Amino acid sequence: MTLFDELSLVPFVNGVGPATRLGGLPIADEVWEAMRGASHGCVRIDELQAAVGRRLADRLGIPGVYVTSGASAALTLAAAAAIRHRNLGNGDPRPAEIIIQQAHRDPYDRAVSLLGTRLAEIGYPDETHRYELEHAFSDRTAAVLFRPGRPGNLLSLSVLADVAHRHDVMVIVDGAMYVPPVDRLAGFFRDGADLVAVSGGKGFRGPQGTGLLCGSPRLLDWAALEHQDLDERETTWTQVRMSGERAPTESPAPVLLRHGVGRGMKIGPEEIVGICAAVERYLRDPGGDERPGIGELDAAERALAGDERVRVTKAVHEPLAVPVLELDLRRSGVPVDSVIRRLAKGKPRVFIAEHRAFAGTLVLNPMALRPGDGVLVAQALCAALDAGGDRGQPGTHREPD
Ligand SMILES: *Cc1c(COP(=O)(O)O)cnc(C)c1O
Repeated sequence: MTLFDELSLVPFVNGVGPATRLGGLPIADEVWEAMRGASHGCVRIDELQAAVGRRLADRLGIPGVYVTSGASAALTLAAAAAIRHRNLGNGDPRPAEIIIQQAHRDPYDRAVSLLGTRLAEIGYPDETHRYELEHAFSDRTAAVLFRPGRPGNLLSLSVLADVAHRHDVMVIVDGAMYVPPVDRLAGFFRDGADLVAVSGGKGFRGPQGTGLLCGSPRLLDWAALEHQDLDERETTWTQVRMSGERAPTESPAPVLLRHGVGRGMKIGPEEIVGICAAVERYLRDPGGDERPGIGELDAAERALAGDERVRVTKAVHEPLAVPVLELDLRRSGVPVDSVIRRLAKGKPRVFIAEHRAFAGTLVLNPMALRPGDGVLVAQALCAALDAGGDRGQPGTHREPD
């Protein structure tokens, strides 16, 4: 009996994939073993971070890596490092600014705005002009934030980085959902990114509460100072640099020796070791852990064949680079929100991705599916459609025909 059972928690079929609110993805035994190993003996977090960071940077072919408690925390620490880099946090009451194309706005902007920064928006939802970027810089600009994969006539990362660097401003990329594949990560740096935030719990299948902040060791040193526990004695502490050197003991501490803004986003040794093991596992067989889930997609597709109410299309989820099944329910005449509510209350409970619900379509993601789940999802969907519309709140979106 697990603690989940003791607490009477009802498990569900996760057809959404690596969603934080659903607990993320199952962790491979090999990664668990590495995490267990982290509780044998004591190591300093700063030394562990530097050592794991160098190892992962080497494996991933990038300048440096720092482990965080998620991509969202990595974005916060990146913004804090940018503010340090530009020396904007020194008592000036005016907020630091982060430039962003309007098309790149996202709920995860909260990760940088929580520092009290102002988002300086440029362009329109599907178009940004270069001159709009050129005119957006001020003496308070800390960074430019870039999100890959947004459609429109937008400024590319390389154009953005070129202009930003001429203003001595760094570029932060929110690559949370886009890495792996790992060649995208090296590509961001080739195009001029200074810091890239990556999620540890998405494609890398690391512990759900992990992420990677990638970039030059010099910038990661700032992130580390904003993040790590600095309950230290001024006279005896020396900074462990991400480059591996220890700062000379006679040099003054680079910050007031007090906790930075990231102290509440702390991460333990077992998670640092866990994401390291997960990335190395990934690199040995990229995509290998996706094969069983993809088999479940095929099973779901077979089980739904011939049901007139569901139009099933194979597609690829571009950011995560995994195949998915699009389940277009418009022909059923049952409102998609009713189906979602019925699936969530069924036996078993089932969750399917809702990002195309506005188009009457649910998207089945394979990444968290376990053996047998494909057929269970198909059966649950048919049962929800049999039951028809419910009397819940009307949906927020009209379903186009
Ligand atoms: C998932 C995601 C994040 C947050 O990642 P966590 O590792 O869960 O903190 C940030 N930005 C984008 C675009 C994401 O998709």
